[in-house]
Amino acid sequence: MAMSRNLWNKKCKCPACGGEFEATRLRTSSIKVKSRESDFGSLYEAECAYFYAVTACPHCTYAARNEHFDDLRLEYEAKIREACQKLKALPADRKPGIFEPGELGAEAAVKRHELAIAFARMRFHPDLSDLAGLHMHLVWIHRFTGQAEKERQAMEAAAKAYEEFFLKGHKLPEKLGEPGVLYLIGELKRRLGQFREARQFFEKALASREIKSFPNIESMTRDRMLEAKEQMEKVQGTLPAA
Ligand SMILES: [Zn+2]
Repeated sequence: MAMSRNLWNKKCKCPACGGEFEATRLRTSSIKVKSRESDFGSLYEAECAYFYAVTACPHCTYAARNEHFDDLRLEYEAKIREACQKLKALPADRKPGIFEPGELGAEAAVKRHELAIAFARMRFHPDLSDLAGLHMHLVWIHRFTGQAEKERQAMEAAAKAYEEFFLKGHKLPEKLGEPGVLYLIGELKRRLGQFREARQFFEKALASREIKSFPNIESMTRDRMLEAKEQMEKVQGTLPAA
């Protein structure tokens, strides 16, 4: 099958099993963002970039985000070493059929992300920011394909992952800072219809000492907070009187 001009195949060497394979990547120059969502997701004009964000080894199934794929230091990762050895020994038909290079469907993209999440959790020191980011990708992939119920489940998992990251993370992402992470948790809760909790996180974001360094986050937080308030009043208005 002819591949879109926007895709190319990169030669990779798996850091877990040493196997060689080709992974399909989306050309950076071809990525066109149509708009940005209130939870920082992007809507794309053509290919959805999140589909191609994970590299997965067809030999041992080791998977991670493209930019972290080579980072693995196997000598510290006994669980991953063991899992990959076992998986590599399996016949090809016992492994998920999601490793072929070329255009990727949503279902394969989801499965690759789920593998990356499973391997990220196996790490001796799980990178909580990486985990939360992978869950966010699942939110956006399901939204892109219109799978509302799966999107909802992914948002639950992402909110939980970001709460854990916020509590235990060593370093919050520079682009978001403390207010951005609090805002994002709040926004996921708002989208889940948990308006009271959403507003609590928005309030925490606005009360953050760093908020003035993130004027964009501040205005997004104020807008969404108002929206959550209106949504909450609407829900209460439809409830029968006690
Ligand atoms: Zn491998």
